[in-house]
Amino acid sequence: MRNGTAGLKLLPPHSVITDGGGVNQLLEGLGALTVVMAGAFGIWRRLRMRSGTRFGVAEAAHHAAFEQSPNSVLVVDADSLKVIDANAALQRDLGYTLAEVRGLSVTQLFTDEGGERELLARKLRDPNPRSLFEICQRSKSGTLRSVEMSAQRLEVGRRQLLLLTAHDVTVRRKVEAQLLEKQQHLDHLAHHDQLTGLPNRLYLAAHLPGAIEDAKRTGAMLAVLFLDLDRFKHINDSRGHETGDKLLKAVAQRIRSTMRTEDVVVRMGGDEFIVVLKTVKNTDQVNEAATRITEAMSAAVIVDGRPLVTTASIGVSLYPRDGSDMGELLRHSDTAMYQAKDRGRNNFQLFSPIMARRLKERMAIETSLRTALQTGQLDVHYQPIVDIQTSRVVALESLLRWKHPSHGFVPPDRFVAVAEEAGLIVPIGEFVLARAMEDIARWRQVGCVQVPVAVNISAVQLQRSNLPATIMKLTQQHGVSPKLLQLELTESAVFERREGRTGESNEDAVGRLRELGVRIAIDDFGTGYSSLSYLKRWRVDYLKIDRSFVRDLVTDMSDLAIVGAIIAMARHLNIQVIAEGIEGWQQLEKLRQLGCSLAQGYLFAKPLPEEQCRRFLTGAPLDLTEHDPLLEALEATGS
Ligand code: C2E
Ligand code: MG
Ligand code: MG
Repeated sequence: MRNGTAGLKLLPPHSVITDGGGVNQLLEGLGALTVVMAGAFGIWRRLRMRSGTRFGVAEAAHHAAFEQSPNSVLVVDADSLKVIDANAALQRDLGYTLAEVRGLSVTQLFTDEGGERELLARKLRDPNPRSLFEICQRSKSGTLRSVEMSAQRLEVGRRQLLLLTAHDVTVRRKVEAQLLEKQQHLDHLAHHDQLTGLPNRLYLAAHLPGAIEDAKRTGAMLAVLFLDLDRFKHINDSRGHETGDKLLKAVAQRIRSTMRTEDVVVRMGGDEFIVVLKTVKNTDQVNEAATRITEAMSAAVIVDGRPLVTTASIGVSLYPRDGSDMGELLRHSDTAMYQAKDRGRNNFQLFSPIMARRLKERMAIETSLRTALQTGQLDVHYQPIVDIQTSRVVALESLLRWKHPSHGFVPPDRFVAVAEEAGLIVPIGEFVLARAMEDIARWRQVGCVQVPVAVNISAVQLQRSNLPATIMKLTQQHGVSPKLLQLELTESAVFERREGRTGESNEDAVGRLRELGVRIAIDDFGTGYSSLSYLKRWRVDYLKIDRSFVRDLVTDMSDLAIVGAIIAMARHLNIQVIAEGIEGWQQLEKLRQLGCSLAQGYLFAKPLPEEQCRRFLTGAPLDLTEHDPLLEALEATGS
């Protein structure tokens, strides 16, 4: 626009018209032309007046154009640069009278800051000083204003003159500066996260490709760390979003403060952060950075006077080893982060191609699991729990089965964790509960002896679904007493001090379930890391000794000691013990000697479909001699 105007001001009218610009530009061009003509006219007029010649209407119009131009106009001697004439606008704008300004060096009408006068003088001495330039004018009283100046050489008689036209752009510049500031503010807003003040996803998208290019040029490595807070959703759900926000802010500051200034720390959204380490020399440097973050997070954050502990799972991808562009590096750091979650959270993992394969498989499981429930691919089998003394079946454990149409039987160990992660365990868990209730009702109908059914419950179900309400509804619907329901919860799932959706602790949730009459078993006992003190506080009905301790019970003295200790402790606490995974007679005999009351395993029966379980529900002791444990075990692997 500025250059366009400059061109227009100095071009003849036909060029202005063919310029294709708007009407304003045209008028501005014509105006400038008139000023040029009027300026020349001013000089000519004075010369004429001096020679006593009178002038007519056209000349008067030219005179008026010069005098009344809104732009200040100066006529200057091209050799001495002294002012010869100045129009009314100049006198008004700079506060000089014509008499005062006349004879002054034109440079005095401009500020000398930044060598502007010298610059101006040089420009005006240019034999062809037609260009438009911006300069700062100085009034008599010293006020400054920005003007756009055009200078043109004129020849009047034998005198070389300069015609200077100044257009005030102070307001325009001020507006432009404000707009720029606003734009920069908007840019900052668009590229930064409001909550933490850290750069955001857009910023990363704008800067990471450049950082990769730099690394490529210098031959350095670059690391992308994908950081996800562990169980942040839980804190958000149980303590409220405000607390969650405060925690995020504190965590953001901690991460930022552990990094070098040249490293980029970005909040991607939610509880996800990206750290880009530039100029990485070796993987040790990455390990150190990730360790620094993990350590910085380990101290509790005090939010509203209460300590909150949060940890992070970090996945790392390296340029150029793990990817050549932003998309690939981000994807692979994300994959590595999931691996860190899988490895128990609160750790970091460097990407490896095997991870990508595993993740793909996991995603495939998740996708097909979504349809499995609707298309009837899921089923529930039951395995008897036997009283060791009487050989009678005292309960059945329900075990989920998935018959995939093309992959065949998929064991729960491969898909339960995926279902938990994807939140699918809630509807799947409800399906198992409903089936268990249905089957209990059916067994009653066909005259079977009623025994409790144990249902495995994952921590996610305990926290996210309203389990007592679901159980109440289902027991009423099928006319089944809640006493016929046993819930199996793993130690780690229950005893990590967590609060569920409703802000209720796991302990309270389990308490409410017990009030319904439901019995509680601690599954896989001995494999968790929880303190045993909970056994004192909680009213637990059963402990299920994990299969890993039972397997080598006969040969391994340590296992024998552990199992013996568990049984003795449980007896004192009035809790019944169920030994899992009994496959042989010798194991059973050892357990009997140790005083274990209940047992479950292939030795008695593998998990079976509902109709086949009916034979266990006669009330008669199992005829164990009928079973060939080895054969059963082999069959069970394909169940
Ligand atoms: P769990 O609850 O500890 O179940 C016992 C597992 O041991 C079952 O494996 C069972 O088939 C197996 N088992 C029983 N006796 C023997 C034996 O003598 N030898 C051997 N080698 N194994 C034996 P399964 O059915 O593959 O289930 C694995 C795990 O999946 C379960 O461990 C449980 O944690 C989970 N699971 C199964 N069904 C459900 C469910 O409905 N909901 C949830 N949340 N988890 C489930
Ligand atoms: Mg179980
Ligand atoms: Mg178990």
